[in-house]
Amino acid sequence: MNTEYSFFDAVCESFDKAAKYTKFDKGILEQIKQCNSVLRIHFPVKIGDQIEVIKAYRVQHSHHKLPCKGGIRFSEMVNLDEVMALSALMTYKCAIVNVPFGGAKGGISINPKKYSERDLERITRRYTSELIKKRFIGPGEDVPAPDYGTGEREMSWILDTYMAMHPGEVDALGCVTGKPVTQGGVKGRKEATGLGVFFGIREVCNNEEVMQKIGLPKGIENKKVIVQGLGNVGYHTAKFFQEGGAIIVGIAEYEGSIYNEKGLDVEAVVAHRKQTGSILNFPGAQNFEKNTDAIEASCDILIPAALENVINSSNANKIKAKIIGEAANGPLTPEADEILNQKGVLIIPDMYLNAGGVTVSYFEWLKNLSHVRYGRLEKRFMENQSTNILAQIESMTGNKIPDNQRNLLIHGPDEIDLVRSGLEDTMIKATNEILECWKANPEIKDMRTAAFVVAINKVGTSYEELGIFP
Ligand code: GLU
Repeated sequence: MNTEYSFFDAVCESFDKAAKYTKFDKGILEQIKQCNSVLRIHFPVKIGDQIEVIKAYRVQHSHHKLPCKGGIRFSEMVNLDEVMALSALMTYKCAIVNVPFGGAKGGISINPKKYSERDLERITRRYTSELIKKRFIGPGEDVPAPDYGTGEREMSWILDTYMAMHPGEVDALGCVTGKPVTQGGVKGRKEATGLGVFFGIREVCNNEEVMQKIGLPKGIENKKVIVQGLGNVGYHTAKFFQEGGAIIVGIAEYEGSIYNEKGLDVEAVVAHRKQTGSILNFPGAQNFEKNTDAIEASCDILIPAALENVINSSNANKIKAKIIGEAANGPLTPEADEILNQKGVLIIPDMYLNAGGVTVSYFEWLKNLSHVRYGRLEKRFMENQSTNILAQIESMTGNKIPDNQRNLLIHGPDEIDLVRSGLEDTMIKATNEILECWKANPEIKDMRTAAFVVAINKVGTSYEELGIFP
């Protein structure tokens, strides 16, 4: 990892910058800022005929609301500072989108590509047992989810381990989110972060005043977009932007990056990568040797969607984008943030923009606690009601509604419809709350600070109302 700075210190720096615009007691601000509980563990796992000692973490940043919530990442770069920073971002993220959880994050310091599936399963199960022993997992205590290097498969192993050790616990399904739909997951969770990134940036781009400030026309259509990272978040973000009428001009991955001013078809790039093992040499596109080169290419919106620290003091000055949408957590160092703000680039901050994942995790957790699929009770009732209303309209007007219109009008909500509209509403409301806070405080220079002010106000009020200070 680039150790030019401490990620947790960077988050605290952003916090301090924003805290000046709030009215809380110094003690409350300090309590919000610190990590409440930190777990660092080492455990042995037999890999082949060797015993390997695995290093892992779980940090609960805030207990102002329970359970704590946040993903688990598998990466060689995982370290305590990073997990602390990411757990803090989770607290602010949840507050901004009104998801009633405290922030947490976990990580195992391994390169998952170096292990067989069977070994990964044993590592994940052993990690889960450690979390159970220390009470760092449970539907009312701490609920992990996918993050960099993990997905539905790992969440299934976590669930199964938890259930095996809590027989008969009726709400056990709510101990982890991001599960496969067949294992208590919710439809729409997989693409939720990418869709949330799309909804968030679209809402900002629809704001006339903000667009005028940076000299771009309103709306998403025909905006040139570069996405860095084609993992779950980057892939879905790129796909939703393409569907929304934007032009994906560049894609960066670790093997290199590609650029085509006329646009890249995201699905075709993914298919090409599957076939050749690389995004490079995609028909019609220009190759860049370094994966970071595309970041500096010409575009309207740059979306870093992989790891932290990719935009730093060495490349910030070369960025040509007018908007940076932080789909990843912490993709900009504080130095880069400063340089880009001075250049007038609009930075849409991570802990609000990538909140789609945890928002839909919240929906999944609610589904698990209520033991019923979304739409199960109301779908048929609403369809019958709409059918009756249409019949009345037809008999009163004497006009027959065309079949394609009728089908649209009577469609009762399925789980995916409710999850997506819930996510859209959440992202639109959060965007406007931040933009309003920004507008109301002319001294606030950037959207990140405005987002932190919104988050601190909510967490601080919660602490004050809890009255937990002995
Ligand atoms: N890992 C995701 C994040 O950083 C999702 C967390 C969750 O769903 O709990 O926001």
